[in-house]
Amino acid sequence: MSVRVEHLLKIYGENKAVDDISFSINSGEVVGFLGPNGAGKSTTMKIITGCIASDGGEVFINGINIKNGMKDLKRTIGYLPENNPLYLNMYVKEYLEYSASMYLPKLEVKTAVDNAIESVGLTSHQYKKIGELSKGYKQRTGIARAMVHNPSILILDEPTTGLDPNQIVEIRNLIRELGKEKTVILSTHIMQEAEAVCDRAIIISKGKIVADNTLKNLEEESSQSIVTVEFDSEVKIEEIQNISGVKKVEGSGKNFIVSSAEDIDVRKNIFDFAVKKNISVLSMTKNKGNLENIFRDLTQK
Ligand code: ADP
Repeated sequence: MSVRVEHLLKIYGENKAVDDISFSINSGEVVGFLGPNGAGKSTTMKIITGCIASDGGEVFINGINIKNGMKDLKRTIGYLPENNPLYLNMYVKEYLEYSASMYLPKLEVKTAVDNAIESVGLTSHQYKKIGELSKGYKQRTGIARAMVHNPSILILDEPTTGLDPNQIVEIRNLIRELGKEKTVILSTHIMQEAEAVCDRAIIISKGKIVADNTLKNLEEESSQSIVTVEFDSEVKIEEIQNISGVKKVEGSGKNFIVSSAEDIDVRKNIFDFAVKKNISVLSMTKNKGNLENIFRDLTQK
């Protein structure tokens, strides 16, 4: 099942929450929707899942425009909304049966629920009250609800928010497993999450897509351009900024992180600058791929 979005637009008052977004996701891909808070990730997901209407643009699921066929398409999409809303007074299995019965014929419900419970590792907790579960198990319940009708597309909005580090690893492993069989779109504001789970990242900032690439390509792009340097004396940041080839500088005193245009190696120029100034370079290293830097660069503009 593929997802194609064309020139999507959502405006709240003066604010363009989603501003002319287009992308396409092929069957079986696990794609991270990345961006800082307020970037427009949830709004885009709500539009794709038919929860809210757009103010412009189109969404196609497997080539079918959701405006014409959302009723039928609902069965092919599983959605975990932000903050995972659950009925806390219901029991896990009871809740999943209730959710499944909204999509499936009665005869299929039991098997579907048993499969979902097993897939997300909820077997030992299926007879517990949802309100009494730990956050990690509540999240599993939300994911089980999203997939109980066996959709081919899973849309997960910040699936690991609020979990402890062990629970985060468990949920990421679970998503990776689900990604073997389904098309998965997940949103996150954490770069490492995308690295851990996704094949591809769509980075969004202020309602616009600022990058759409495989994680491998993004890593390669970021690796060429960042140099960490330490001098033996203090240097003004403006002086580093003026070195030929330098695009951006962070730091102060003796330590700086210098970004250059992608295909330029500024280390020689930095060294020449130090010689001219009669100071020493104590260390200078070219950093390996760092997606955090790419993310910051792209979303702070
Ligand atoms: P993200 O999921 O990336 O954190 P959102 O899609 O939730 O971002 O929000 C994008 C922008 O739209 C933000 O500026 C947010 O304040 C605004 N927004 C989202 N929902 C509403 C709403 N119901 N009413 C008004 N503004 C909204």
